[in-house]
Amino acid sequence: MLVGAYTAIAVYLGIKLPYVVLLRTIAYMCFKSLLTSHDSFLRRFFLVAILVSVLLLILSSFASYKLYERYVIRLAESNAANLASAIVDARHTALLNVLNSPIQEPEGLSSLDSDLRAFVKPYSIVKIKMFSLSGMIVYSTDISLLGSSSAGNKNLDKALAGGNSSSIQTKDKIADLADETRFDVDVVESYVPMYGFDNKVIGVFEIYQDMTRFRAEVKEGVVSFTVGFGLLLIVLLLGAFYFIKNSARKMLVQQKQLEQFATIDPVTNVFNRGEITRQMEAEWERFSRAGTDQKGFGLMMLDLDHFKRVNDNYGHQTGDELLKRIAHRLQGELRIYSQLGRYGGEEFVVLLPEVTMVELNGIADRILKLISEKSFTIQTNEISITLSIGLAIAKRSDLNIDAVLKRADDNLYMAKDAGRNRKWGE
Ligand code: GH3
Ligand code: MG
Ligand code: MG
Repeated sequence: MLVGAYTAIAVYLGIKLPYVVLLRTIAYMCFKSLLTSHDSFLRRFFLVAILVSVLLLILSSFASYKLYERYVIRLAESNAANLASAIVDARHTALLNVLNSPIQEPEGLSSLDSDLRAFVKPYSIVKIKMFSLSGMIVYSTDISLLGSSSAGNKNLDKALAGGNSSSIQTKDKIADLADETRFDVDVVESYVPMYGFDNKVIGVFEIYQDMTRFRAEVKEGVVSFTVGFGLLLIVLLLGAFYFIKNSARKMLVQQKQLEQFATIDPVTNVFNRGEITRQMEAEWERFSRAGTDQKGFGLMMLDLDHFKRVNDNYGHQTGDELLKRIAHRLQGELRIYSQLGRYGGEEFVVLLPEVTMVELNGIADRILKLISEKSFTIQTNEISITLSIGLAIAKRSDLNIDAVLKRADDNLYMAKDAGRNRKWGE
């Protein structure tokens, strides 16, 4: 519907069809990129930019229309001034007679009248008036006006004081010099002073000039300007939109990378100590706010058994690779219902929301098997390893998260003491 309305308005304004299609395609591209942009800030920003541009376009079109109008008025004014001075130069004595003598009969003016009508023929003049210094109409192509006074007319007073003044009006109909009626006419009414040989104002000359023929020219000029300026605005907007969108995308990628650096351990690709600690604290907050019927959350402290031997036997790099593989295997098992973080060198923490001790023991058994039952192949080395696990469930009697963590840590040492490759929990 919007597209139909736009096309109808554009065609009415006389914009050529290829321009209509071009503008429509560009506007469609603009809106499509806006609507498909997921960034709401960017969307809002460009919506405001489009509104401002449309406003700018309307204002500048209006301004350009006003400029053209002024140009038409100036043209009419200079025509009027030229005519007045040409008439004064050519018919000085006759004019002085007319201006100085009292009201003349139309017959007495007929030779001047036919002379003037011939003179102004090329200028689309539809009416002429000539005023004496007292503001009385001493000559007009409309003889019914002869002898009437226009005293108090501001434009006339201005001309009597030596200045020009013009204004444009649209008349529904007006009779021209040949007494033919013209319809929907733009007329410019210009008052210019007439000077005698001693450079004194001797009267005022007024003409109504038909400027309708400029209407099409004005329309064409304003439309060309609006289309050109509109295209320029759209190109600028699109350029700015894609530039900002690209920059925003790059910033987002960088932000994600920074987030990753801040939360992920680079060796094992699981949460680092800072992040897993934040998550444990958040879980503790949730647990302490929840009702008493809420299950507690579980913690597991994992420590690799005799990991030092791996470094000693295969080197530090192989030790690092083994840590990475172990973390990957653990992550694969635990991802669905818990969070895994590297807590220290070869120690990991698992955070399990809403579990019972029975469930925690079951998961711990699965982890022990997952690591001990299948060796790791790193380069040509087959490395078998085990780990020990300390278990703890958050209780209402715990003061804070550290209390739960300490219980899991103490249980880890119990598991180590009891011979390793096992779990220990209350
Ligand atoms: P257990 O825990 O069974 O008592 O013996 P362990 O040998 O694992 O324990 P210990 O605390 O004595 O040593 C841990 C070793 O882990 C020390 C260090 O060589 C190794 N380690 C800690 N962090 C890293 C790491 O980032 N990379 C590698 N390759 N080794 C690490
Ligand atoms: Mg260890
Ligand atoms: Mg250790």
